[in-house]
Amino acid sequence: MVAEFVDHVGGQPSTRGLQRARAGTTGFTGRLVVVTGAGSGIGKATAQAFAALGAEVVVADIDATAAKRAAAEIGPAAYPHVVDVADADAMTRFAEEAAAEHGAPDIVVNNAGIGMAGSFLDTTPEDWRRVLDVNLMGVVHGCRAFGALMAESGEGGHIVNIASAAAYTPSRALSAYASSKAAVLMLSDCLRAELADRGVAVTAVCPGIVATDITNTTTFVGAADQEGMRRRATAAYARRGFGPEKVAAEIVRAVREGIPVLPVTPEARAARLAARFAPGL
Ligand code: NAD
Repeated sequence: MVAEFVDHVGGQPSTRGLQRARAGTTGFTGRLVVVTGAGSGIGKATAQAFAALGAEVVVADIDATAAKRAAAEIGPAAYPHVVDVADADAMTRFAEEAAAEHGAPDIVVNNAGIGMAGSFLDTTPEDWRRVLDVNLMGVVHGCRAFGALMAESGEGGHIVNIASAAAYTPSRALSAYASSKAAVLMLSDCLRAELADRGVAVTAVCPGIVATDITNTTTFVGAADQEGMRRRATAAYARRGFGPEKVAAEIVRAVREGIPVLPVTPEARAARLAARFAPGL
């Protein structure tokens, strides 16, 4: 853990616990929020939103520079941490270190993800493995490591998993990505039932198109000119997408109101209800 923590040092009572007692239940003062993939985009905006409401935030990312930069921008109550969510052992160590330094988190946002676009027939088993390792198994590892901590703490918590409108909107050229997100949605539904008894709420958030840098980590299967595809996709996302702050605000709302599944756009909600074939998101 890059950061220095004030909590649980030398057996002293938790500063967070005292702050939390004073803050009551409506604000996030005294709460600890862990966000993966927080070096950029939706994760960074989410860490910013919780910090602005008084929370301490762990800004976790595979990209050390991005994590440090984001934490520095957010402020002194933001702690950068480098972790690859696809690595089960690393995620277990991350949770143990966070618990040792801060205590169990109150909110965990499993947000880290990568893109994968291209024809199904061109998408290799390795492509599938990569997108499932990060987008699905990264969420599984986060839920396992932090869900156990929350359940054992006796104080419960809230896990937010970032899926996508692609999880329920069939689309050309997104078979691997959309499948990984559909699995995150079902995983969240299963965990919601299972972890409720342990005091842990689970929400899946399903954004539509959001203007972020996800195109930088997107594999355009079968495309000779990856850079050109990336540039065009980035421009299209910037033109068509809404800002990551909107998703962050919805995540905060979901945690406050305990909404279990949250399509972030009206279009996404309509698409989920209609469940019809949609050529492109
Ligand atoms: P982004 O690329 O801006 O941010 C993703 C962050 O995750 C990056 O900082 C990246 O370094 C980090 N990351 C990637 N692989 C990682 C790993 N293995 N371990 C730890 N960190 C890792 O993208 P974003 O758009 O903010 O995406 C955030 C989440 O939102 C993703 O799960 C994505 O699938 C989902 N989402 C995005 C959109 C969109 O249109 N941008 C729509 C729906 C859902």
